Amino acid sequence: MLNRLTVSELVPQLACRAVSAREATQACLDQIQRVDGRVHAFVSVDAADALRQADAADQALGQGVTHTEKPLLGVPVALKDVIAVKGQPLRCGSKMLEQFVSPYDATVTERLKAAGAVVFGRLNMDEFAMGGSTENSAYGVTRNPWDLDRTPGGSSGGSAAAVAAEECPVSLGSDTGGSIRQPASFCGCVGLKPTYGRVSRYGLVAYASSLDQIGPLGRSVRDVATVLQAIAGWDARDSTSIPQPAENYSALLAGGVKGLRLGLPKEYFVGGLDPEVKAAVDAAVRQLSAQGAELVEVSLPHTEYAIATYYIIATAEASANLARFDGVRYGFRAEGADPIEMYCRTRGAGFGQEVKRRIILGTYVLSSGYYDAYYLRAQKIRTLIRQDFLKAFEKVDVLVTPTAPTAAYRLGEKVDDPLQMYLGDIYTISCNLAGNCGLSLPCGFTASRLPIGLQLLGKPLGEATLLRVGQAFQENTSWHQQRPLTAG
Ligand code: GLN
Repeated sequence: MLNRLTVSELVPQLACRAVSAREATQACLDQIQRVDGRVHAFVSVDAADALRQADAADQALGQGVTHTEKPLLGVPVALKDVIAVKGQPLRCGSKMLEQFVSPYDATVTERLKAAGAVVFGRLNMDEFAMGGSTENSAYGVTRNPWDLDRTPGGSSGGSAAAVAAEECPVSLGSDTGGSIRQPASFCGCVGLKPTYGRVSRYGLVAYASSLDQIGPLGRSVRDVATVLQAIAGWDARDSTSIPQPAENYSALLAGGVKGLRLGLPKEYFVGGLDPEVKAAVDAAVRQLSAQGAELVEVSLPHTEYAIATYYIIATAEASANLARFDGVRYGFRAEGADPIEMYCRTRGAGFGQEVKRRIILGTYVLSSGYYDAYYLRAQKIRTLIRQDFLKAFEKVDVLVTPTAPTAAYRLGEKVDDPLQMYLGDIYTISCNLAGNCGLSLPCGFTASRLPIGLQLLGKPLGEATLLRVGQAFQENTSWHQQRPLTAG
């Protein structure tokens, strides 16, 4: 079954024309037909448009265009519904954008298309990327392909579930505080959050602009490296994008871990960490050490403030970013007797509960009289958190941690208890606050066969090193080759 192939398996088949892009795309569409009724990773799929792109790829292949020129030629890639694709819906899991169709392509979309990819599907997500379980979507809940009663994680739950259920070989998600890595962990996939500024945010609907990054998810580290290479690099349309050119990540995968220093942050292995997760992460660390990595204990002393800091900064930025949804400029509008009433009704009915909670929180921490006590203070702690990492990276090349404190929990278990939900972000958010890169990859299973994720954290622009460690791990383990029953 073609939908089962990874990108690195599919590309040689496409290149020698044993398989056509149309067949590869059709296989994904068929798999969606078979399983998405149960998983609900996709909010919508424009099959005709996908097949049109596939036919164009086949035509290019027929004319002799190679994968050296277009590395993703004929490869289906599905996108989280927060990334703009011209002519396609862009709903961000929100009723507010129910009727909205994007008038332009995001930079990542443009780059994927330029690399020959078949860009298709709108993947489900927590509304405006706020959440960790994909239960905060106006378009229904996404289920974890490993256990349909459980969450796929979030906010890029659709992106991870679709890859795990083999509905697409790779996808894009966005990560503001863990939204690529945590769902990758819950669904047994690989997910990368690039360094802040490595991938252009142009055409990514903003949640918290100083933290947001787009990144790839896939079933192997190699595939994630291939997609990163296609989307990374400077972009004139994102003023925070890093001028340094992207590296050849695929070529840098080899080399192993011998001689690399891996840091274990002691604050990450304490109370609240599920024993099964800890055991799997410990075993992965022993594995990497057996392969020749040196282990070093390090300290990130401000870790305990990370959640509070993140939920002040992220909500503050969200309250400003979401002000644009006013019933005039975009999407949904509820009429009122005067503009103020229209505005209130629109936002009252257009946004879901979690989004409203965050807008209110964010407005509060920015308001005069509270700004210094909350927002300004959080910015100072953010600097301390960044310095913790800089210090740690003087001693080590990569940090190794769990991605999440638990495996996937049951749907409904935390959605009514925001604080519990926020605590689940403890291992992922500091990386965004510091602007570093982070990778999650499968490293084991719980007794009830739920995937467990290992997180590797790197220095700014340390993607190549992260991917190299991940690749070395996957060459010696088979966790990433396990498949959920739902995939069929
Ligand atoms: N779970 C975190 C939040 O709810 C992270 C979300 C994200 O990375 N987009 O904000």
